[in-house]
Amino acid sequence: MIVTTHKNLTTNELKDVALAISEIDDRFNSLNFFGDNVFFLPINLSEELVRHITSIKGVDKIYFPPLNYQLSSKEWRSERTVFNVKDTLIGNGNFQIMAGPCAVESVEQMHQVGAHLQKLGINFIRGGAYKPRTSPYSFQGLETEGLKIIREIADEYGLKVITEVVDRSVLDDVSMYTDIIQIGARNMQNFFLLKELGRIDKPIFLKRGMSARIPEWLGAAEYILSSGNPKIILCERGIRTFDTSLRNTLDVAAIPLIKDLSHLPIFADPSHGTGDSKYIKPMALASIAAGCDGIMVEAHPNPAKALSDGPQSLNFDELTDLTKAIDNLNKALKA
Ligand code: PEP
Ligand code: MN
Repeated sequence: MIVTTHKNLTTNELKDVALAISEIDDRFNSLNFFGDNVFFLPINLSEELVRHITSIKGVDKIYFPPLNYQLSSKEWRSERTVFNVKDTLIGNGNFQIMAGPCAVESVEQMHQVGAHLQKLGINFIRGGAYKPRTSPYSFQGLETEGLKIIREIADEYGLKVITEVVDRSVLDDVSMYTDIIQIGARNMQNFFLLKELGRIDKPIFLKRGMSARIPEWLGAAEYILSSGNPKIILCERGIRTFDTSLRNTLDVAAIPLIKDLSHLPIFADPSHGTGDSKYIKPMALASIAAGCDGIMVEAHPNPAKALSDGPQSLNFDELTDLTKAIDNLNKALKA
């Protein structure tokens, strides 16, 4: 349950509200959020308690969202979240593409990617410097060197950076170089890492865990929101199902479902969602038709030589073709 106070309360008036709420349940949390003073409680309230809270001096409104994802819910915020990353809007249908290799491999590779994205008018370059690989013997990423490369290339070609953070120990290092921080599927429920993101003034791209249910995914977003960071982008990247024909099952239905439950921007990643470059275009278009706010896609100058995720990376011609198809579909959907 969420209680908001009137704006411009004095510190003492706010303290009185907090005290009155703590008498109901001392597990409440409070936050200054989008300019509102917000108290949230991990309980459902009886009608009598609702009447009592409403009568507390300074209280403005009471909201009744699902208990485990309050700040990410539509009950709390019915208008869709939209924010700027540098001068580029994300959310509420401001469609964006994020493209680039799975991993930053070299300056030369990233030069080629950056130049091609610029030519296509894509705003965001992706590429992992820290790679969470299934095997310790696989390429682990260039680490700080990789962060420097992707930043330099982005600045040269007028792009914005999205890259993954895998652990709290490298969070400050990653945030220095990136514009958006990616939390990968494997870390979606690393709650200690999620809580740290509250103190970072950068948007967070929160991928769905590979076996995460929707309320668990929104619960993960709630960790970041309730720690004080309101800029979150959700990304459907495929889940594990009984069917092993493709790497993952892209849950396209999650897109309209998330839009019903939450105000947060929702992207789709058809590269990880299928594991096969052949199916990226149809699944990207399906995700857009389903209402996503953007697409993340892996692209590489030479996918056959990629150090990770080559089979699910587009080459440049395929990326060009995809962006044309996306433009056409977006035009048709707006018509
Ligand atoms: C990635 O984006 O390269 C990645 C590792 O994604 P995910 O966490 O979705 O597997
Ligand atoms: Mn990848």
